[in-house]
This record gives sequence, structure tokens and C-alpha cells, in this order.
Amino acid sequence: MADEIDRAQALEADQRADAIAEVRGRQVAGDWRVVSAERCVECDDVIPEARRRLVVGVQLCAACQGERERVALIERRTRGW
Ligand SMILES: [Zn+2]
Repeated sequence: MADEIDRAQALEADQRADAIAEVRGRQVAGDWRVVSAERCVECDDVIPEARRRLVVGVQLCAACQGERERVALIERRTRGW
């Protein structure tokens, strides 16, 4: 189980790095709308345009992003990262 979690986290990190590289490429081109979601991928709430402009490539609403960061922080503390 731990190996599966480690592999999943490694895959997630790779995908995140790819997504950041892609977003940065588009950010240079000034095409933020292509990668910023209009609705949160977690809860389907509308993501305000100000947030979509501010957070290039945003996929989560502020509430879901905060929850995800809170969970990640707890995981890091639990695992001693
Ligand atoms: Zn959300």
C-alpha cells in the first residue's frame, strides 16, 4: 500500500511539473483562459474571473484549494516530510 501511495505521489508530482511547464508556456503567450477552469474540478462551483486571472491555470475554487493544501500539510506532518 505504501509503495502504491509513493508511486501515485511520484506520478502526481510529474503531472504537476508538466502542467506547470505547460501553463508557463501559455502564460508567456498570454493565453491564460486556455488552462484556467471556469468551474472547480472538485465541487463544480464557478471560479471567479479575478481568481482565474490571478492564479494562472487554476482548476480549483479557493475553498477546495485550501482544503487540498490543509490535507497535504497534515500528510507531510504525519509522514515527517
Ligand atoms: Zn471547489
